[in-house]
Amino acid sequence: MSESSVHPRAALGRLPRYAAGKPPVAVAGMESFKLSSNENPLPPLPEVLESMAKHPEINRYPDPTAAPLRAALADFLDVPAEDIVTGGGSLGALNQILAAFSGANDGGEPDEVIYAWRSFEAYPISVGLAGARSIQVPLTSGARHDLEAMAAAVTDRTKIVILCTPNNPTGPVLHTAEVEEFLAKVPEDVVVVIDEAYVEFVTDADAVKGLELYRKYPNVIVLRTFSKAYGLAGLRVGYSVSQPELTQYLRVAAVPFAASSLAQHAAIKSLELYPKIVERVQSLVRERERVVAGLRELGWPVPDAQGNFVWLNFGQDSSDFAAQAEGQGLSVRPFGNEGVRVSIGEVEANSRFLQFCQGYTKAPAAS
Ligand SMILES: *Cc1c(COP(=O)(O)O)cnc(C)c1O
Repeated sequence: MSESSVHPRAALGRLPRYAAGKPPVAVAGMESFKLSSNENPLPPLPEVLESMAKHPEINRYPDPTAAPLRAALADFLDVPAEDIVTGGGSLGALNQILAAFSGANDGGEPDEVIYAWRSFEAYPISVGLAGARSIQVPLTSGARHDLEAMAAAVTDRTKIVILCTPNNPTGPVLHTAEVEEFLAKVPEDVVVVIDEAYVEFVTDADAVKGLELYRKYPNVIVLRTFSKAYGLAGLRVGYSVSQPELTQYLRVAAVPFAASSLAQHAAIKSLELYPKIVERVQSLVRERERVVAGLRELGWPVPDAQGNFVWLNFGQDSSDFAAQAEGQGLSVRPFGNEGVRVSIGEVEANSRFLQFCQGYTKAPAAS
């Protein structure tokens, strides 16, 4: 960065940079595909676009408490509207949680926020911006959360634990029994966030259901988004669900008007059309299963994939794999020397990806 006499807060200087998934590069003679950001490859439902066009009054601020969207969600999820707080994406909702419950104590020492690593790469940035300290607990075999180690990492400085299920970028879900066991060990004054960004894609019957746990545990907050299954990533709307003892503080920490009016209308219409969303999700889940089966036929170990993406533990070869894929018109997402995440895309993109893997000379390691 350029020299300047203005310096950012020390915490900012220590933050990792968010590396967004790259758009695909053009390759002569073939269509390129973006499989690097876990986006929904399907275009928006026409009715959703129409509902946005029908509400052109964007010279006005949106409903400040997103009341119509919260009412629709309350109905859809069977929870009180009071328990829902919307945000600019679920990342916006997560930032409310971090701002409300973590930062530094009166002596200036940072609070601790525990999460698995590798997990969603926005976590370290958001935690650092809140002024808190990240405690990253390495994933265990199968690229799963090590809940025992995460419970053991709790100290009297811990304010928040984030559980990501399915875990981005590795894919496995957490199971109900293990999360209940974990919650029994965590002090009641520690907030436990269950990030369910990909919950609609989950097919594992034993997968934890965040909403059931929020009803039982006053320290649990569930995070959901319209960005992935609903295909509204560009609009930025997500939400959290927790009991009023917590939502009272989240509302104080919320950026006013974060979910735009267009985003709110599109989200409400999407809930109305949920059966169509389910059809689309099912087609992506079938594609996920086809991709996973194809990779396993090559003898490649693939961790349980419950989101709209697969994880390949390519270690040192991650950037080579990504570069070679780019040559075939496929943008995938390497994470340092750890592995590569590949989103499930259009049928043609997934087929091209499998074909590319057949020709790739190395294989990933088990996770
Ligand atoms: C994509 C994603 C989100 C959500 O992002 P928004 O677009 O801000 O809703 C949240 N958590 C995880 C783990 C994700 O992968």
